Amino acid sequence: MKTIALLFAALLLQTHASAGQPNILLILADDLGYGDLSIQGCRQFTTPSIDSIAKNGVRFKQGYVSNSVCAPSRAGLLSGRIGIGFESNLPHPTKHGLNPDLPTMADHLKKAGYKTYCIGKWHLGYMPEHHPNRRGFDEFYGLLGGSRTYYAGNLKKLAKDGHAIERNGKLEEEKQGSYVTDRLTHGAVDYISTHAKKHPKQPFFMYLSYTAPHGPLEPKPGYAERYPNLGNEKRRAYAGLVASLDEGVGQVLQCLENNKLLENTIIVFMSDNGGPENQNASSNGALRGEKGTLWEGGVRVPFFIQWLEKIPSGKELDEPVISLDLLPTFGKAAGIKYEIESDGINLWPLILNHKADAPVRSFYWRRGGMKNCAFRQGKYKWLENRRTGQQWLFDIEADLAEKTNVMDQYPEVAEKMKRKYAAWEKSVPDPAFESGWKPKRGK
Ligand code: CA
Repeated sequence: MKTIALLFAALLLQTHASAGQPNILLILADDLGYGDLSIQGCRQFTTPSIDSIAKNGVRFKQGYVSNSVCAPSRAGLLSGRIGIGFESNLPHPTKHGLNPDLPTMADHLKKAGYKTYCIGKWHLGYMPEHHPNRRGFDEFYGLLGGSRTYYAGNLKKLAKDGHAIERNGKLEEEKQGSYVTDRLTHGAVDYISTHAKKHPKQPFFMYLSYTAPHGPLEPKPGYAERYPNLGNEKRRAYAGLVASLDEGVGQVLQCLENNKLLENTIIVFMSDNGGPENQNASSNGALRGEKGTLWEGGVRVPFFIQWLEKIPSGKELDEPVISLDLLPTFGKAAGIKYEIESDGINLWPLILNHKADAPVRSFYWRRGGMKNCAFRQGKYKWLENRRTGQQWLFDIEADLAEKTNVMDQYPEVAEKMKRKYAAWEKSVPDPAFESGWKPKRGK
């Protein structure tokens, strides 16, 4: 009996917020190019609100995601895990989704006392067991599927394709003249304002997952026209999508400030994968490749973190980091004492102390039914296309654009990386779906 009472007391402690826990706001853009923010070097349009997050905190110059397309990148982000069988985009309909046995960031933070909100694009499964409300989120306002029209559409048809916007399972009417980026911004602002009034002592975690600037290229009326000097029509439309995203981020930041929550809120901004330059006219700047590839243009993204109370402003860090790091990083800030299982690391020592002896990181990527592989370790990145047998080795620190294949100069480095990659691959299951092609192992 005494044991049960103690256990109960421990559980109570674990599920209640403790003083000083920061709020956490994770803003995810969809298919934003690495070079498409002013702070990332864009000179064609400006993004003052998104830039402010980097300027007020840390900009990671080598920020990666765990996959180069939407759904598996989000699976990595929210579970902190790779090699979980989720390596392809989700078709619709499908029974597949993020494995319900893997706790999400929201599950952990909810247990630590947080109120949890998911707003926007989910794309982690359509079955009841995959629903955000079953994956740790108290509130869900968004769409279960991938990206959709930005304009009002036919609700029935949108619902059939997984594209209707719902609130905790209840579909929302499509109001003529409404615009999806604005709907998600208003959703975030409403939840934050209400939270500040109703739960002033409870911290919140908000995952704000915009569909912008993923195609279709449907800017708000009049927005593309702001950029008459941009090269082509597609790029003007894309700039319009980014403008609405930046305005939305600005409104959310303003809302935090109005509610006196800005100081003690950790704010992360990142993109889920590189820009698909040919599709949405995004630009990955100097990087090679695009969304769907394992070149830097597919997996390196804008990645910023602000926490006014703790992080000095204007910091730029060169150390490679990955979206998988956010789960242990948030967990630490939330005061979670148990070890959270993840394939990332707690970034606070790096962010706050910037120690030169940061660990050498190893990042593994796999795409297209295991046909394309990439492995980053230290300054080197090794890639293989298993359909053609081609291999590449780059010194990423010296060769950001992946132009010079140094396989011949450093065959022993390539061989070692290939072996290490094979060992990792052996330790994880094959993709659970869309894995038509498989390499012949051991040959
Ligand atoms: Ca995406």
